[in-house]
Amino acid sequence: MSFDPAQFAQSALSAGSQQGWESYRLCKIGEWERPWFQRRTEKTDAPALYISAGIHGDEPAGSYAALELLRHPEIFHGLDVTLFPMLNPAGLAANTRENAAGIDLNRDYRDPKSEEIRSHLATLQTLGQYTMTLCLHEDWEMTGFYFYELNVSGEPACGLEIQRAMAEHLPIETRAIIDDFEAKNGIIARNAELLRLPRPQWPEAFYLSHYHTQLGYTFETPSKAAPLESRVAAHVAGVRAAADFARRQRLVPPRGTMPSLSQ
Ligand SMILES: [Zn+2]
Repeated sequence: MSFDPAQFAQSALSAGSQQGWESYRLCKIGEWERPWFQRRTEKTDAPALYISAGIHGDEPAGSYAALELLRHPEIFHGLDVTLFPMLNPAGLAANTRENAAGIDLNRDYRDPKSEEIRSHLATLQTLGQYTMTLCLHEDWEMTGFYFYELNVSGEPACGLEIQRAMAEHLPIETRAIIDDFEAKNGIIARNAELLRLPRPQWPEAFYLSHYHTQLGYTFETPSKAAPLESRVAAHVAGVRAAADFARRQRLVPPRGTMPSLSQ
């Protein structure tokens, strides 16, 4: 089944308007619209979640999961949410990791060369602080799911809850080393140390951890080893677990302020 970005944007916009999301647009890529969405509670101090998907075009489950999330806003009851469901439509149409110019968009957040990420960054700079950020990805080399946890503050996080929720739909990736990182039952836990490593090409999660959040997760589902339906369900379950945690913790992020870059 091939991914149709035009149809996806239509479905997302129609789900968004039916379910009461505010919709916005990043710059178009070719003919393709890139809608994004917000919903806000009445309260000014509600915990806030950020979710993004579809930055790697050969990882469609995240975008399809984002569409499910748009259709089920009850998951986010009591929370403020910002959702970017499709950052790389050209890559999704071509089933390539990169955009049409061959740029890996998830390495383009420090000194952006792509119009996709320049536009995303311009929008991000208008947004405030999040209790938690979630980036939905896939990995074609793995047989189970895993995720990165980037916990800058060291405060209690919800890795085990996310792991339990996703494991209802997919096996846990059992490798001890994933992408050169130590993994424990599918969890790659990183702290503030990671942000101090010199790294010229920033992934989205790095940017978010510098400027928008103390707690970031990047979910990875096995794109070759499991059916799309289970991968989508696993992402949705992981987001739901994160939303439940954010609501329970009542973590209130300082809004509208940017933490200073440590170096
Ligand atoms: Zn990816």
